[in-house]
Amino acid sequence: MNNYQKTIGIEVHCELKTKTKMFSDTLNSYEGSENSHINGIDLAYPGSLPLVNLGAVKLACKAALLLHCTINKTMSFDRKNYFYPDLPKGYQITQARTPIGVNGYVMIEVEGTLKKIRIHDIHMEEDTAKSIHQVDKSYLDFNRSGVPLIEIVTEPDMHTEEEAMAYLNKLRELFVYADISDCKMEEGSMRCDVNVSVSKNDSLGVRTETKNIGSISSVGKAIKAESIRQIEVLENGGKIVEETRRFDEKDERTILMRVKETGNDYRYFPEPNIPEFTLTDEEIEEVRLTIPKMPDELREEYRSLQVNENNIKTLIQHRDLCSFFEEVKEYDPVMTSNLLTGDVLMYLNKNNLSFKDIKLTKENMKDIVAKVQKQELSSKQVKQLLPILMEKGGDVSTLMNELGMVQISDDQVLQQLVDQVIQENPSSVEDFKNGKDRAVKYLMGQIMKASKGQANPVSVNRLLLDTLKRTNLN
Ligand code: ADP
Ligand code: MG
Repeated sequence: MNNYQKTIGIEVHCELKTKTKMFSDTLNSYEGSENSHINGIDLAYPGSLPLVNLGAVKLACKAALLLHCTINKTMSFDRKNYFYPDLPKGYQITQARTPIGVNGYVMIEVEGTLKKIRIHDIHMEEDTAKSIHQVDKSYLDFNRSGVPLIEIVTEPDMHTEEEAMAYLNKLRELFVYADISDCKMEEGSMRCDVNVSVSKNDSLGVRTETKNIGSISSVGKAIKAESIRQIEVLENGGKIVEETRRFDEKDERTILMRVKETGNDYRYFPEPNIPEFTLTDEEIEEVRLTIPKMPDELREEYRSLQVNENNIKTLIQHRDLCSFFEEVKEYDPVMTSNLLTGDVLMYLNKNNLSFKDIKLTKENMKDIVAKVQKQELSSKQVKQLLPILMEKGGDVSTLMNELGMVQISDDQVLQQLVDQVIQENPSSVEDFKNGKDRAVKYLMGQIMKASKGQANPVSVNRLLLDTLKRTNLN
């Protein structure tokens, strides 16, 4: 069984984050009731004519640039003909001859090794309506009809489940950061078809395509299940047939849907209602300028700022947290990353909130860092302040006053407390003289208690040690 090599090629569909649909001016939105964002074009009324959404073209171009593709500046669309209830036109408008991008690549990292996954092409197309199947009835929701999609097709360059999952994670990271797509597999804004074949030699085996995979981890499971199935078929003297299968999450196996359509069945031909058009070099440059700092660059920068790997990973996984970190890292990258990935993220998760729902400001972080550095705030006090700042907002100093969080840093006042506690605890002083370090901790605790937690612990520590050294035993 082991001398088989798996080969994987992936086709990913992502919904573009545009305001309106690919070929009509209805909203690209799933808010509101079913069939509330529709018009004659989306419903395929006879005689309705498509109009290309330039915003969608620019987002697709941004994606193509991120994938290092060569841009086909002059573009046209094609009809892919097939019958299905969710496609009343009888064809989907797509790009078969002139995909917006070709010959690109994505770098992935698996177990510390970098690998290049070649992108065959990225093209634009429109989504179909959504079928909703109930026990005895099926419904159609046309809100999805005409939603702009990009399809990204890799070369068969992956050979393990881990590589396939790394590729999908990377694609999602790129598109989410560049604001191209939400890429939520659970909600269908990112969908992927996985082509798998197995072979004992260098030539590629016959592949099957598995659809309907609900998450990136399920992609891994589907590849495993399908490659095992194929090897079993071959070992039993059978043949693999090019077919479309689906993944059953419950049983973790793939199930035959249909024998695969080939290009010929779709009778592709140029879409006659959309004239060829060209993106100018200036337009492409404008798109390039909208690409923000991307995760690979951020990771490298954060490492150089001594932010630890866990914090980096967490920040990059939470794009809004990361944008905020970009604004506050100048105050102290290590401290602010700890606070954001620790207390702040915990609060968000616990209350099921996203970053935009909380009131914490850049100014708050600046004040907190400054006060911690000046030892006017302890880390314990920061933990107390943060939830209030997140929930109600406000100013750090004002809030500290309201909560009575004044720190006593005046040496004269602190010395009095130190003397008083030393006087009250002669046995601890004796312990100290006998080399028992525990005594210092105990005395510190007593002083902090006597100050109601308001003494500056660093100053107290200094004064206490000085005093102890000076104190003679009677
Ligand atoms: P189709 O248009 O029928 O879906 P394509 O030739 O466009 O077919 O290929 C679709 C995907 O299948 C691509 O991602 C490609 O890399 C992958 N693929 C092609 N041949 C194989 C194979 N033998 N094993 C695994 N993947 C393959
Ligand atoms: Mg395909």
